[in-house]
Amino acid sequence: MKREQRMRLWAAALSVCMAAGMAQPAMAGVVKKSAAQTSGSAANNTAEAATAQTDFYFAGQEMYTYQRLEADMQLLKSKYEGVTTDSIGKTVDGRNIYRIVIGNPNAEKKVLVLAAIHAREYITTPLVMRQVREMLDRKASGETALNDVCIQFVPMANPDGVQISQRALDGLNNANSKQTVQRVIESWADWGLLENKDKYNWYLNKWKNNVNGVDLNHNFPTKGWAQLNDNRGKASSEFYKGPSAASEPETQAIIKLVNEQKFSEVINYHAQGQIIYWSQMHASKEVQAKDKAMAVIAARRTGYALVDPAADGSRYGAGFKDWLDWEKGIPNITLEVGLGVSPVPENQIEKIWQQNQGLLPELVNALLGRSGESISNGTSTAAAGNTAQDSGVHYVSPKGSGDANESLTPPGAE
Ligand SMILES: [Zn+2]
Repeated sequence: MKREQRMRLWAAALSVCMAAGMAQPAMAGVVKKSAAQTSGSAANNTAEAATAQTDFYFAGQEMYTYQRLEADMQLLKSKYEGVTTDSIGKTVDGRNIYRIVIGNPNAEKKVLVLAAIHAREYITTPLVMRQVREMLDRKASGETALNDVCIQFVPMANPDGVQISQRALDGLNNANSKQTVQRVIESWADWGLLENKDKYNWYLNKWKNNVNGVDLNHNFPTKGWAQLNDNRGKASSEFYKGPSAASEPETQAIIKLVNEQKFSEVINYHAQGQIIYWSQMHASKEVQAKDKAMAVIAARRTGYALVDPAADGSRYGAGFKDWLDWEKGIPNITLEVGLGVSPVPENQIEKIWQQNQGLLPELVNALLGRSGESISNGTSTAAAGNTAQDSGVHYVSPKGSGDANESLTPPGAE
């Protein structure tokens, strides 16, 4: 190739880079949302497909689906070093229960962040996806925490249930799964679900369980499972604890992951109520103290209230938190994000992010004994505006708020 030709090609390539640079500022880890995505219109599929190559869905305010999670995981891996993804197991309807791993895989300290174990609480998935990006961006700007910790995210622990809540039976793959859910609906026919299409749609939109109608967060093998009264007694959209402890493949996958990885601590995301569950009456004093320490950090950061231990319902608990505290001795907290009723509107994500941004880095730094590095960019307006007492936290009995209290009553049935 002649020198002039090389120069022309080089100039052409440079101008392409500059044009691309103008459209997409090359800021490390910062992905701007396009106008096409902000519009929220599904009409322009071409524009959506085009923007999907460069923009994270979790940065937007559209309904966050299993498919969008898959697309975002690919994009994360293409934009950042040191991101691995796999599946910790298969659901009843054949979906993957995805895991994202960042940080040092050989680190002694490991943290698990788990979201959307309850289907209708799927707003927690884009929240923890933003946490993945946050940790990677902080690493890119020089923070060293990820050298000494391995953080694992299970952003959608109950993807079949999320599909049911978002798309009703059309969201499921297999005829067997659709039949199973249809049988659950028919078994609750006295709620008027079959003759009234609105009630039928409402029931599925409020779906909390897996395809088998089991509440995964009542299905963990604690010493309390047998005595737990789930107030349903049979397959349902919520609460049913299952035919036996750990009967469900999703529960089994989470148990296997925890047993293999031996996490130092776990963060559970649910919706809604802006409260934090932290205590477990059967946990050792040492674990309770660690739960409390995590909870106080989270309360100060988010402005959420701590649930009064007298009202946490942990006596016969068979939730993931109960199992971690009671059976595994692993400190953990459960944050209930958002307000209203689940599924909370997508536009709450910005407020939820404002409250939770910085929390994971702070918890990680506390775990690593590096408290000095934390809250470097603390801008939580929620924390500034809360009704904190001297200790900086406040307690509530979660009457009417928190998803444990968000029980279904058929519309018009009272
Ligand atoms: Zn929940």
